[in-house]
Amino acid sequence: MKKTAFVTGGSRGIGRAIVRRLAAEGCAVGIDYLQAREQAEALAAELRVQGHEALAVRGDVSDRGAVTAAIRLVEAEFGPVEVLVNNAGIAEQRQFQDISQDFWRHIFGVNVDGAYHTIQAVLPHMLHEKRGCIVNISSIWGQRGASCETAYSASKAALIGLTRSLAMELAPSGIRVNCVAPGVIRTDMVEVLGEETLSDLARETPMGRLGTPEEIAAAVAFFAGEGASFVTGQVLTADGGFIL
Ligand code: NDP
Repeated sequence: MKKTAFVTGGSRGIGRAIVRRLAAEGCAVGIDYLQAREQAEALAAELRVQGHEALAVRGDVSDRGAVTAAIRLVEAEFGPVEVLVNNAGIAEQRQFQDISQDFWRHIFGVNVDGAYHTIQAVLPHMLHEKRGCIVNISSIWGQRGASCETAYSASKAALIGLTRSLAMELAPSGIRVNCVAPGVIRTDMVEVLGEETLSDLARETPMGRLGTPEEIAAAVAFFAGEGASFVTGQVLTADGGFIL
């Protein structure tokens, strides 16, 4: 049976790989983006050429009305969302004493409130059908500390708390909530760190390399698939052994 999936931040990086993978698994996919309109639309066009169903929609996840409207557009096209992937996220290094209230709110607004908004937008239908799957993208920095990343790290830890609590609350309703915690993955987000730091991070990773967006998409596909039908409230760390 065809499912409708909605992936936030689907235009680039990990989100784009998740979109491609879920489409390959047979989902009709809503590709949410904020600024990268061309990339999101090119991705949707690429998938449609391959015979998949995909629609690019702009929706700032930190804006409840905007992201809810984006979800409704996708649902009007493909039917109610049954697979929600909260992937959109932002990171910026800053020393704790320099973090303004606006900066803190911005990080949490996207990384945490974003998931709160999208989940509440899709939940009524999932509860009615007693079926659905939610996957939140956290980070290894939500599992261990990260100097100069306190806001990001705290926001990613919040997603793990959200995942576990909501999984307990929704399990009796047949809705599964899980979380993927990626290690260092080669995307625009980490390019700002520079080649030297990225090489250091690869060396610090027991598997001796950085991860790929496709490797994170595979973890998401596991949670979204039938093979995970008895799995909920879990955090799957995909990090080449980084935090062992
Ligand atoms: P990128 O910076 O490459 O891409 C970020 C994506 O999020 C883009 O599609 C962007 O959309 C979207 N986005 C940002 N803000 C908003 C917003 N307010 N509303 C909607 N979409 C938004 O990041 P990655 O692909 O690397 O990261 C994806 C997720 O994985 C994030 O949650 C990140 O925290 C997490 N992660 C990444 C790791 C890594 O090493 N790369 C490690 C651990 C976790 P647009 O382009 O349209 O602006």
